[in-house]
Amino acid sequence: MEAKRYKVLMGKKKRIALIAHDRKKRDLLEWVSFNLGTLSQHELYATGTTGALLQEKLGIKVHRLKSGPLGGDQQIGAMIAEGKIDVLIFFWDPLEPQAHDVDVKALIRIATVYNIPTAITRSTADFLISSPLMNDLYEKIQVDYEEDLERRIRKVVEEG
Ligand code: PGA
Repeated sequence: MEAKRYKVLMGKKKRIALIAHDRKKRDLLEWVSFNLGTLSQHELYATGTTGALLQEKLGIKVHRLKSGPLGGDQQIGAMIAEGKIDVLIFFWDPLEPQAHDVDVKALIRIATVYNIPTAITRSTADFLISSPLMNDLYEKIQVDYEEDLERRIRKVVEEG
């Protein structure tokens, strides 16, 4: 049976997570600098080093989490699962193995589970930031995983 769907309302002010691997940090800094006007209307979150650079180089206000390899990607993933992040901008490095590769995969996975608008390339980030939905209300369609969970619990209980 197909899982049910429901709508999640995103406010006009989005909660945006910004993450860049080391060789992509320059790209992210340029991108944020170019889009500062739009981004400053939203609530920004970033992993440790990315956030420090954004604060230091651009002087913007950003909630800093732990550095990616020290759990920052997982913190962002947890915030997504808890409905505390609306948009993910994640410039990951496809040419360099990362100590926390599994966290990177987990973050992209959980962003997909919760139908999060996600940009993993700079061009996608351009398209995302220039969408009129960025500054408007938006009803996101979300699979009802809770219902599926309850069904599975009931099945286990019934099977005794
Ligand atoms: P950083 O983490 O911002 O602390 O460098 C990014 C990452 O590696 O995911």
